[in-house]
Amino acid sequence: MRNRARARRIKMILMDVDGTLTDGTLAVLPDGEEIKAYNVKDGLGVLLAQLIDLKLGIITGKRSQGLVRRAERLKIAELHQGVIDKKPVFDDILKRHGLAPEEAAYIGDDIGDLEVMAAAGLAAAVADAHKLVKKQAHYVCKLAGGRGAFRELVDFIIDAQGKSDLISARFKCIFDRKI
Ligand SMILES: [Mg+2]
Repeated sequence: MRNRARARRIKMILMDVDGTLTDGTLAVLPDGEEIKAYNVKDGLGVLLAQLIDLKLGIITGKRSQGLVRRAERLKIAELHQGVIDKKPVFDDILKRHGLAPEEAAYIGDDIGDLEVMAAAGLAAAVADAHKLVKKQAHYVCKLAGGRGAFRELVDFIIDAQGKSDLISARFKCIFDRKI
């Protein structure tokens, strides 16, 4: 099936964090707290996805308080941290939302994402993903992790679903949202 046909069915986008929403860099403070940098383009991608009523979720192997704050700010309720085995969490999220795997997109960058990508209706890899991840992906982003890859995926889905006009019409509604 072509990627645009896959994208048309998507109702939820699930995402990895490190190497996907970030470039993989971790700054470690003396107390062990880790700092990561997110991209405002991806933040706007979250808002645009929400504008066309796509559900969103995060599944990550690491834990950070910064991510909790970012998820709150972006109103992403499905935040799953410290997840080593992502597939059962993916299955549980879809079950609770009453969605089939074909209705879920997933974007990742490394081998911990492969199992979920094999199940997702639209599997995306960031441009600098591991070679096995790119091989598994239906859609390989032109942009790298932390450099707008998530936004690129959202734009692709919006376009495939023919909702670009809806975005233009509703865009002013999100001017007061923090990204
Ligand atoms: Mg990753």
